[in-house]
Amino acid sequence: MPTVLVVTAHGDDMEFFAGGTISKLCMLGYDVHLLMATDNARGTFELSAEQMFGLRLREAEAAAKVLGLRSVSCLDYPDGNLCDTPHTTLRGQFMEAIRRLRPDIVFTFDPWAPYEGHPDHRAVSWAAMEAASFSHFPLYYPEQLAAGLAPFYVPETYFFAKSPIDVNRPVDVSGEAIERKIAALYCYDSQMVLTLADVQYAIQSAPYDVPEVTGLDPHDYRGFIDNRVRTTARIIGKKYGFEYGEHFRRVRWGGTERMAGPGGVPEEGF
Ligand SMILES: [Zn+2]
Repeated sequence: MPTVLVVTAHGDDMEFFAGGTISKLCMLGYDVHLLMATDNARGTFELSAEQMFGLRLREAEAAAKVLGLRSVSCLDYPDGNLCDTPHTTLRGQFMEAIRRLRPDIVFTFDPWAPYEGHPDHRAVSWAAMEAASFSHFPLYYPEQLAAGLAPFYVPETYFFAKSPIDVNRPVDVSGEAIERKIAALYCYDSQMVLTLADVQYAIQSAPYDVPEVTGLDPHDYRGFIDNRVRTTARIIGKKYGFEYGEHFRRVRWGGTERMAGPGGVPEEGF
């Protein structure tokens, strides 16, 4: 079966941006691997960094079980400070994962999408896009080849973003896929508490109130997350005739699709 590598910054990034699609791929039997760059240790208003560090893999592994991932790994760079890691170091670690797993598809943040405020997302987006673009070049990180890895051409990259541009690949995530996406998000308990609390801070700074949100205990996030995820997926799905959708900017085969003959290009079965 095809192999997929998802490269993100934090626990819950994959689930929020592509959790429905990833759960669908797992249900189809794809081997999906998740690589997170940071330790999530700043994603809280109430726990210590040490407590967060202890949670990072436990939450990710629970979510991975819900989705059916093949593996989860974490580079454990300090959350929020990924920009302190040399770009070429991060890119090399992503390229090592690509050359080792030889994925048919890489999912990651879109470096060209606008309005991305999180420095870790920006750092991952550029490093992962470049790693996927150059992993077949033998003189990039030749020490990896000396260690036994081979150059590898990544056939397809799926980019996601908060404010996506040039989306060209909708995925129908209605049914079991969206249910698993939401169930996987709940596994990131610390991050769901943070997500609701952060929205509450925003509303509390505004000249109005949204009592059904500000009145919640941040630990009682399920209804809020469920509603937010379904609303977003419904808006996307409506454009394509799905109940729930996710969408991506997809680049495949180095943009050579237009060179395909009259037989055209087959669409993927998901
Ligand atoms: Zn994130």
